[in-house]
Amino acid sequence: METTEAFVGLDCVDCGERFDAAAETHRCPDCGGILDPAYAYDDVSLSREALADRPFESMWRYAELLPFTRGSAVTMDEGATALVECPTLADELGVAEVYIKDEGRNPTGTFKDRGQTVAMTAAAQHGATDVALASAGNAGQAASAYAARAGMDSHVFLPARSGFTNKAMVNVHGGDMTVVGGRITDAGEAFAEAMADPENEHWYSVKTFETPYRHEGKKTMYYEIAEQLDWETPDAVVYPTGGGVGLVGMHKAAEEFEALGLTEDVPGFYAAQATGCAPVVAAFQEGKDVHEAWEHPDTICGGIEIPDPGASPWILDVLRESDGGAVATDDPDILDAAITVAQHEGLEMGATCAAAASGAWKLAEEGEFDEDDTVVLVNTGTGNKDDDILRSHLMGQGI
Ligand SMILES: *Cc1c(COP(=O)(O)O)cnc(C)c1O
Ligand SMILES: [Zn+2]
Repeated sequence: METTEAFVGLDCVDCGERFDAAAETHRCPDCGGILDPAYAYDDVSLSREALADRPFESMWRYAELLPFTRGSAVTMDEGATALVECPTLADELGVAEVYIKDEGRNPTGTFKDRGQTVAMTAAAQHGATDVALASAGNAGQAASAYAARAGMDSHVFLPARSGFTNKAMVNVHGGDMTVVGGRITDAGEAFAEAMADPENEHWYSVKTFETPYRHEGKKTMYYEIAEQLDWETPDAVVYPTGGGVGLVGMHKAAEEFEALGLTEDVPGFYAAQATGCAPVVAAFQEGKDVHEAWEHPDTICGGIEIPDPGASPWILDVLRESDGGAVATDDPDILDAAITVAQHEGLEMGATCAAAASGAWKLAEEGEFDEDDTVVLVNTGTGNKDDDILRSHLMGQGI
């Protein structure tokens, strides 16, 4: 394998055991826990100056803190997205500064590309010919694109309610798509059944937290934010949370930068969900260490309609340890927030992503932020994948 110098293996987040990344590819063989890439940080030499000298054109500019070399990466120069200052929103929220990390500017229009570039690189290094996953939509689209780039076949299981763009583009990328009636859990079951079929023994899963590498790719969002803010740690990062992949990844990145002496602090991480599916928010508010599966998930925000997020203990740790929080808002408020951002700042937020904006408004109303705070909202995907949802929300208001 073409791994980087400081990458030392995969640590199980449950039992703590370390495994060789050439041998283990998915969950912990001992206890079934999530595996997390580990590094010997003493072997990482990264300075603010060294980073400033590198072009800001791809998330692989942080290769020292990724498992695989840049030369081996299955990449389309994803990441290196803009962090856009939003002064009108800052006024409206009553804080000093608001920034939107605009992940819509990725190859397939969402931050899922950051996860898939690393997961697909691992798949390639393990000699996979076929990758497979169940997804609410965006991860499936990203996986089919990166598989195409790597010359692999992709098998994508999507719920019927995933977006038109997702389904269309899986086809366009040549993916083998199975559309399953119902919701993400139904797609997940169909995927698990297909994975268990001996005929598909050669399929390599790139599903959330089955591969150890998706949160690892998504963590680069935080590296970029830290650099783009001139190394000032923001007070709050508000994240539209489904499986929590990006949230735990960014928190890991914040701790890494702090440990390497590049930053002085870790921001408060906030999970924003929709009231129609808010297992993480409920567990946070009830002081629990693990979520309870949400019985009747129902939100227009497909990307965060995840009723049973397996990594919830890790997510809840991050929220508490970072002194952040959790917030849920209603679908109409979320869609209103997307439209407000589009009208007041020009930026196009997807419906799912607007849960972060809507959640930030609610947190501000609850007095969670100080007037000198810097708040970062993660716009996980482009608005134009959800143009129909946003437009029909306006029509519902007679506009
Ligand atoms: C997948 C997705 C999310 C949720 O991401 P997690 O990291 O799994 O919590 C949020 N927004 C969009 C647009 C997504 O596609
Ligand atoms: Zn384990």
